[in-house]
Amino acid sequence: MMIGTHSLLPVCGCLLADKISMATGRPRMFSGWNLCAIGTFGFLPDILSPHLSLESRQSSWSHTVWAVIAITFFVPLTRFTCKTGSRIPVAIACWIAYVLHLAVDAISGGIAWLYPWREDVVGRYFIPSEDWIWYDAGFILLVWAIYRVFPHFTRKPSGAKPSDPLS
Ligand SMILES: [Zn+2]
Repeated sequence: MMIGTHSLLPVCGCLLADKISMATGRPRMFSGWNLCAIGTFGFLPDILSPHLSLESRQSSWSHTVWAVIAITFFVPLTRFTCKTGSRIPVAIACWIAYVLHLAVDAISGGIAWLYPWREDVVGRYFIPSEDWIWYDAGFILLVWAIYRVFPHFTRKPSGAKPSDPLS
């Protein structure tokens, strides 16, 4: 999959979590900077080990369970994206975003999750590469829809500027 799907899939999940939180009278869980950090963790495996071919992906260390274990020690750094509120949901969301990247790559070509110890490939092309662009477009539309169609995302606390959706 491409960067749009990898970054916006976890962001959509967090936006929906925010919608549910606000619909039940609780405050937002994720700020705009939190969502940026979560989206970044969503495409981080491809940044840590850039590749163009499926073979390169399946021989990259960033698409393995070892990288997931290593990244667990780095997600607490996301605390710097939190000015207020709990930092734990942000750290958990960043970790999930990284794992979601591997899951999505598994259904769009497969990953060698234990490389270099073993070269077994998990998954295959359930989603052909020529369709990936449509998933990116779909997630862009979904983020827009969550912001604009669902009313709880447009409700602002008193004093917030109406033109700032991420405040
Ligand atoms: Zn990848």
